[in-house]
Amino acid sequence: MSSSTGRTGTTTAITDIATLVTNDPSLGGGSPRSSKLESGRGSPLGLIRDAAVVIEGDRVVWTGESSKAPATDNRVRADGRAVLPGFVDSHSHLVFAGDRTEEFNARMSGRAYSAGGIRTTVAATRAATDGELEANLTRFLAEALRQGTTTFETKSGYGLTVADEARALRLAAAHTDEVTYLGAHIVSPDYADDPAAYVALVTGEMLDACAPHARWIDVFCEKGAFDGDQARAILTAGKAKGLHPRIHANQLSHGPGVQLAVELDAASADHCTHLTDADVDALANGDTVATLLPGAEFSTRAEWPDARRLLDAGVTVALSTDCNPGSSFTSSVPFCIALAVRDMGMTPDEAVWSATAGGAAALRRTDVGRIAPGAYADLTLLDAPSHVHLAYRPGVPLVSEVWRRGVRVV
Ligand SMILES: [Zn+2]
Repeated sequence: MSSSTGRTGTTTAITDIATLVTNDPSLGGGSPRSSKLESGRGSPLGLIRDAAVVIEGDRVVWTGESSKAPATDNRVRADGRAVLPGFVDSHSHLVFAGDRTEEFNARMSGRAYSAGGIRTTVAATRAATDGELEANLTRFLAEALRQGTTTFETKSGYGLTVADEARALRLAAAHTDEVTYLGAHIVSPDYADDPAAYVALVTGEMLDACAPHARWIDVFCEKGAFDGDQARAILTAGKAKGLHPRIHANQLSHGPGVQLAVELDAASADHCTHLTDADVDALANGDTVATLLPGAEFSTRAEWPDARRLLDAGVTVALSTDCNPGSSFTSSVPFCIALAVRDMGMTPDEAVWSATAGGAAALRRTDVGRIAPGAYADLTLLDAPSHVHLAYRPGVPLVSEVWRRGVRVV
C-alpha cells in the first residue's frame, strides 16, 4: 500500500472483525441527526460486518470486507471481536489531589456532611507538588486508556490562583492537546467577599498566564458559581485571547448557560440536565454540541438528562465521563454508555456514536472518533462480537485491546 499512497509507514491489517463501527458518513454513518432524516432506519455507525481495517503509520488507510483486505506488511486477526473508534472523552477534571470518599459515603448514606466540596479538592491540589499532581494525572489517564479512551480533554479549576491554574494547565498540556482553562470553576475562597474581583482576576492576570497552555476556556454557569453576565464576560475575554468557549451549563437548575453557549458558538454545552424548550431549540439550530455526563447524575442520585428529547429535536449529543473526585469519579466511558441506554432513552447505537464521533464533535475534531481513511488509527477492540455489548453487559471489562496512533498500547 505504501507505493499506492506515496507514504512509507509500515502497513498492518486487522482482519476477521465481526462488527466494525466506522462512523463513516460515506457508509451511511454520520450524525444521528442525518440518519433520522433518512426515515429513521439503520444505524448512525456506518457498520461493516466481517470487516478489516488497514493502518499505515498512525492513520487508517482502508476499511472494508475482511475477504477483500489488500496485502499488508503485518496481519492481525480480531477473531470475531467488535472494533470501534477509541472513545473521545471530551470532559474530565484530572489535575487534582486528595480524596472525597467520606463526602460520597455520607451522601449515599443520607448523612449530612459539612466539608467543603470543591474547596476540599482546591486545598489539597494547592498543597500538592508538581510530581504528585502529574503522577495522579498519569494514573487516571492509564486507567481511561485501559477502558478504551484514546482522546481526552481535561481542565484546570482546582487551583484558583494565577500560579496554581497555570501549573495545572502546563501539566495537562504535556499529556493532551485538549486542555481547558477553568479558572471560573467556583469563586475562589480567597475572594468569597468580592466575586467581582475574582472575575477580574480570571479575565485578566490569570487568563494571561493560562492562555498559552490551553485551547479552550470554560465556566461553571450555575447558581452559587457564576451567573450569565459573569460567564459572558469570562468567555468573551477568553475568545479575545484565542481560546474557544465551552460551558458547564444547566446542570443543577434552569439558567442562561445553554443559550449563552449557542450565542457564543461554544463547541459544547456540558451537562444540559435542566432544559427549557427554548434551550433545546437553540441547541438544535446552532453548532453547539450537548455533552451529557451521566456519571454525575449517577454519583449524586440526581435526575437524568433527557437524551431522547435532545436527539428527537435534532441536537448533536456527546457522552463523556466528567471524571472528577467530587461528583463523578469514574473514568469509564463504557459505564456511561450503559447508563445512557438504560436511563436516558438512547439506543445502543446512539450512545456509542455519542461517545466516539459525538465527543469528537464536542472538540471540533474530525481526525478522531471514526475509523475511516485519513483518521488517526485509534481503535478499541471488545471481547464481544458487537458494540451493543457495551450496554448489554454493563460493568464487564470488555475492552481487550486498544490501539492509539497505529500502535497497540493495551
Ligand atoms: Zn465538569
